[in-house]
Amino acid sequence: MTQTATVMDPLVTRMREFGTTIFAEMSALAVRTGAVNLGQGFPDTDGPPEMLEAAAAALRAGRNQYPPGPGIPELRAAIAAHQRRFWALDYDPDGEVLVTAGATEAIAAAVLALCEPGAEVVCFEPYYDSYAAGIALAGGVRRPVTLRPGPDGRYGFDPDELRAAFGPRTRLVLLNSPHNPTGKVFDRDELTLIASLCQEYDVPVVTDEVYEHLVFTDAAAPHIPLATLPGMRDRTLRVSSAGKTFSCTGWKVGWVSGPAPLVSAVTRVKQFLTYVNGAPLQPAVAVALGLGDDYYAAFTADLQAKRDLLAAGLTDAGFTVQRSEGTYFITVDIAPVGGHDGIDFCRALPTAAGVVAVPTQVFYDHVEAGRRLVRFAFCKRPEILREAATRLRHATFAS
Ligand SMILES: *Cc1c(COP(=O)(O)O)cnc(C)c1O
Repeated sequence: MTQTATVMDPLVTRMREFGTTIFAEMSALAVRTGAVNLGQGFPDTDGPPEMLEAAAAALRAGRNQYPPGPGIPELRAAIAAHQRRFWALDYDPDGEVLVTAGATEAIAAAVLALCEPGAEVVCFEPYYDSYAAGIALAGGVRRPVTLRPGPDGRYGFDPDELRAAFGPRTRLVLLNSPHNPTGKVFDRDELTLIASLCQEYDVPVVTDEVYEHLVFTDAAAPHIPLATLPGMRDRTLRVSSAGKTFSCTGWKVGWVSGPAPLVSAVTRVKQFLTYVNGAPLQPAVAVALGLGDDYYAAFTADLQAKRDLLAAGLTDAGFTVQRSEGTYFITVDIAPVGGHDGIDFCRALPTAAGVVAVPTQVFYDHVEAGRRLVRFAFCKRPEILREAATRLRHATFAS
């Protein structure tokens, strides 16, 4: 037996690259400096009143014990109906739909269920931070393909780089569209290439579609679920969640839909992570999913107006503003205002401008590609966005 004389880091090796998230550091900075926090992506208004009332009623009606493992039947039925209504996708609520503790658990459980240690997972960078951690927990290896701002301000990728990321050890693809943090919406040609590679290498794909209702009218493409492409339904696990669509990010009610064998594999892992969650919230999310088209249209229009408000402020402040086609986010290049490194820039921004943002380089393996890119969240009340815009316009950025 080895004796440890010094204090060792008790954390398993595979998780050591993950420190405190950048969101925690930047949110603490916002609190300390009184800055406007456009770092973390959560709305500062509540979701639909019908949903909130339904949650309160369910809680008072005693729906406070463990719900069924796969989720309550009325929510699974609502999830299936919602996908039929918006995307013409048919899933059997019994066996092809699983309710999870947010999209985060759905993704983690899917990666843990489908990846053996050493398996490679193809994803795009910048990636949502839980992807890298989920792959690491499974002992997998990430193979990120870089999204880069193109001449039209839209992020894109090199098809050859995507082809080269696939190989004999590829076991899974993780795709997020609409994409956080870039605001990119993958178009049909891009999705067709991804689909053909998944088929050629015979691998399943997890699609993170939490922003499925946040694609703006000037996007290059509408939202196209990968599962709707020929041959893709049977290898796709579609993930979504109530948090973004119904402005309740703290509820953590998500779901995954797909062919029964894949959903069953995810269920077998998920049951030992949380088993179940959010009993009184589940009937409320079922109510929200069934809201009329007017709710969804107003929600998208509201966020688009907020994007426009912030985009104008960022342009006036001198940044190169990349196109945001969807999500809660917009990214900028800081070079025109004298910025060289997003991390340094974001650490100084609360003092320089009284605003908090997030450097997206922390979501890349190829850090250089994201060195000067910074993300701002626009899911805030107009007066907050106006205040941030004013502050940024009057800021002097150190070079
Ligand atoms: C917010 C977000 C999630 C997490 O969703 P939860 O339902 O809160 O777990 C997952 N993926 C992306 C891209 C997100 O932005």
